[in-house]
Amino acid sequence: MSMLSTATTNPVIVAKFGGTSVADYAAMCRSANIVITNPHTKIVLISACSGVTNVLVALANGISDTTLRQQHLQQLTETHQQILDQLQSPHTVSDAIYTLLDDIASASAQAAIASSPQLTDKLVSHGELLSTHLFNQILVEMNAAAIRFDIRDVMRTDTQFGKALPQPELIRQLAQQHLVPLVATQIVVSQGFIGRDELGNTTTLGRGGSDYSAALIAEAVDATTLEIWTDVPGMYTTDPRITPAAKPIKEISFSEASEMANFGAKILHPSTLVPAIRHQIPVFIGSSTAPQQGGTWIRKTVNQAPLFRALALRGNQTMVTLTSLNMFQAYGFLAAVFRILAEHKISVDLITTSEVSVSLTLDQTDTGGGAPTLPLAAIEQLNQLCRVDIEQGLSLVALIGNHMSDSKGSAKHIFGALDAYNLRLICYGASPHNLCFLVNEADAKSVITTLHQQLLE
Ligand code: ADP
Ligand code: ASP
Ligand code: MG
Repeated sequence: MSMLSTATTNPVIVAKFGGTSVADYAAMCRSANIVITNPHTKIVLISACSGVTNVLVALANGISDTTLRQQHLQQLTETHQQILDQLQSPHTVSDAIYTLLDDIASASAQAAIASSPQLTDKLVSHGELLSTHLFNQILVEMNAAAIRFDIRDVMRTDTQFGKALPQPELIRQLAQQHLVPLVATQIVVSQGFIGRDELGNTTTLGRGGSDYSAALIAEAVDATTLEIWTDVPGMYTTDPRITPAAKPIKEISFSEASEMANFGAKILHPSTLVPAIRHQIPVFIGSSTAPQQGGTWIRKTVNQAPLFRALALRGNQTMVTLTSLNMFQAYGFLAAVFRILAEHKISVDLITTSEVSVSLTLDQTDTGGGAPTLPLAAIEQLNQLCRVDIEQGLSLVALIGNHMSDSKGSAKHIFGALDAYNLRLICYGASPHNLCFLVNEADAKSVITTLHQQLLE
């Protein structure tokens, strides 16, 4: 029987636990308790244990110094051995764990000779392959009917290693075929972040991608709720690491939360809400260390839509300003600029124009968080049309809210609070839910703190 027909009567929860929620034995036990406390939790997607993906990425980049490489491998062994040691029946999973650790050692040696995006994805996927063996065993030892499942049998993607694009229709077909029958009688424990292309290669969805995996699986099985369990009790008015005045938000709309994720709120991978919105699945975010504190519900409609809701910050911005006197009252300049950018597969994020210049920021999705650059060939082509100025050391601040640009006096309120700062490239009015601008990286945190104080406290 497909979950499609049962979902209307039986709630089906897909729960995702991030790296800190499965960091060690104690964290895994806390998360496993959350799973068994709610009988509707049918599918559990987990990340690698905290810190493991970073070590795997370092190994995949190629460490030729064998002592250093050995230290990295030792760190991975210790993380997983400590959990194994605390299991009641470690032998049930120890062979699988040691085989995966051996695979990591040989792939790392290979990466030290020649690294490649394909090898990186294969290597990096081991974090989630390891953690799911241990987490599943913990559930079994709590007498839950749990089964470990290889998500690659369902999570079909294209072949862009490191940022593979999932294929929702195929994922749905495969999930209905392989995953749904298991869910009828068992709790399925599986991996976030990883997938497989049609040739059978392991792929990954990009750093922080487990949130996105969970949303795709929730969509594919017609889940009634997606739960994201992390290290904070919900989505806050801004990153609580920036200001202790940040407050958890009880309820937020899909549109507002999507803006938060897009503009850098690390709590959700930017693509997470796309499947949830497509399939109208409410999303809950809570803390695995303090589930009793409740959390944030993200839904299509919410009771309150405040003018100012929250602030997000994204560092490492690259701003490109293109100036040409020929642009004055001319046509075709922007088309020519974008033709060149498209030729070099450069994706633009924000843009503002004046009579003789256009400023834009470069999309960051391919840089793993670092500042993106313009390839030399693109600069040379652009130089034939206009002057090219590139600035880095900038951060993007986004104010999320509702209908800010239609509300009289809101601009005065916002910009009045920012009198002391130099603001660059302001985008206001294109979306009813955000206003964003660039500031110098050194000012970013104090801009967030000041705006938070003036608009959200
Ligand atoms: P996980 O490993 O569970 O996926 P992440 O580290 O990816 O967890 O995301 C959780 C972190 O996101 C929090 O610890 C917090 O510092 C950060 N964060 C950024 N913006 C926000 C926000 N608006 N609300 C809550 N947390 C945020
Ligand atoms: N383990 C992966 C990472 O650290 C995916 C995730 O945790 O979402 O990026
Ligand atoms: Mg995350």
